Amino acid sequence: MAADPARLDHDHLWHPFTQQQGWSEEAPLVIERGEGSYVIDVEGRRYIDGNASLWCNVHGHRHPVIDAAIRDQIDRISHSTMLGLSHPGAAELAARLVAIAPPGLSRVFYSDSGSTAAEIALKMAFQYQQQRGERGRRTFVRLREAYHGDTIGSVSVGGIDLFHATYQPLLFETHAAEPGNAADMERVLDAYADEVAAVIVEPLVQGAAGMIVHPPGYLRAVRELCDRHGVLLICDEVATGFGRTGTMFACEQEGVVPDFMCLAKGITGGYLPLAATLTTEAVYEGFLGAPEEQRTFYHGHTYTGNALACAAALANLDVFESERTLERLQPKIALLEELLAGIAALPEVSAVRSRGFMVAIDLNDHSAALRMGHRVTNEARERGAIIRPLGNTVVIVPPLSISEQELRTLMTICADSIQAAIASQLHQTA
Ligand SMILES: *Cc1c(COP(=O)(O)O)cnc(C)c1O
Repeated sequence: MAADPARLDHDHLWHPFTQQQGWSEEAPLVIERGEGSYVIDVEGRRYIDGNASLWCNVHGHRHPVIDAAIRDQIDRISHSTMLGLSHPGAAELAARLVAIAPPGLSRVFYSDSGSTAAEIALKMAFQYQQQRGERGRRTFVRLREAYHGDTIGSVSVGGIDLFHATYQPLLFETHAAEPGNAADMERVLDAYADEVAAVIVEPLVQGAAGMIVHPPGYLRAVRELCDRHGVLLICDEVATGFGRTGTMFACEQEGVVPDFMCLAKGITGGYLPLAATLTTEAVYEGFLGAPEEQRTFYHGHTYTGNALACAAALANLDVFESERTLERLQPKIALLEELLAGIAALPEVSAVRSRGFMVAIDLNDHSAALRMGHRVTNEARERGAIIRPLGNTVVIVPPLSISEQELRTLMTICADSIQAAIASQLHQTA
């Protein structure tokens, strides 16, 4: 008899961003298969994947084109190193990323997660400034409530106290600016620009903060302030990239070309770990020189530019073209906004924020102990959808390929689950 995965999980696993004490008291939902917008558990129950497997699935699960591309690559080679060797998939993908990126981003440095993509941009920006003689530029400007990953460097430029405060003594110093407030960015740069190597932002939407949406013109203004002060701009498109906000990259919507663009989550269509940090020829050239000049970028991860991941990423871009994903997304964004207007009107809901296919629904104030977001998640499961809360906020991030019918079902489940969770709570406390 096969071992029970739920039992093995409780005996041996430790889950990310999870208080294991609560986890071990509930039966885990064990996903065995996927199909389009659905994930399917070991009992054969189907759930709409309302968080796109943590914001990374793009064209649905088991997409035949991406599946075939990975199989095809397996038959040649699954991994060879990028340190001292190249391979066709990595080279072709670099060219295709450059072709779709904002103009001027011409160089691609691979890694394997969003956190490393951000760390690499920080290290490159720092080293670039040092090497061009700007030795005083040793720090960074970040936004409050920012999220750029969980490694120590990316946590240093993060601003979500719940996740980041514990590590304060381990972090390097930064200057913080108010999200979406250009005047505050101007204040910070006027005061500290001489010591700043780069500003790092999540363009248009701060995802992990609960979808903080910046006002129109903000990103443009940040770009202009950076230019005025000789400061580099890092746009972390790990969450917003690959269509999430309605365009391939969020930067496009403000006509902004950053000095660094970080990509991960959607890059392989949600199949395999891969990340890329794109930068300009100017930054790249700042690292050129004879070995003894010590301008080399000494950074690299073992699985950087993995061949299977690059094959998946190329197929992901093929599907964007063959299925006209972005074009077909627009009416679905309009439908989602219409459905959200209904949810915003619920008495249990205090605010709704969205940009493209990134949605946050704030529940009315409840004490954290009630774990209201968690209750909504459980209610949604019973109704056939996977969603994941951030505290009292319900977050919805569907695959871009979701059908209009599936989107309607997902949002109905979401509304019903919010009402059921709050009704059951009132019932318990009455
Ligand atoms: C998810 C995320 C990251 C971290 O990516 P990982 O692959 O989880 O390390 C970084 N930046 C942003 C904006 C993200 O949403």
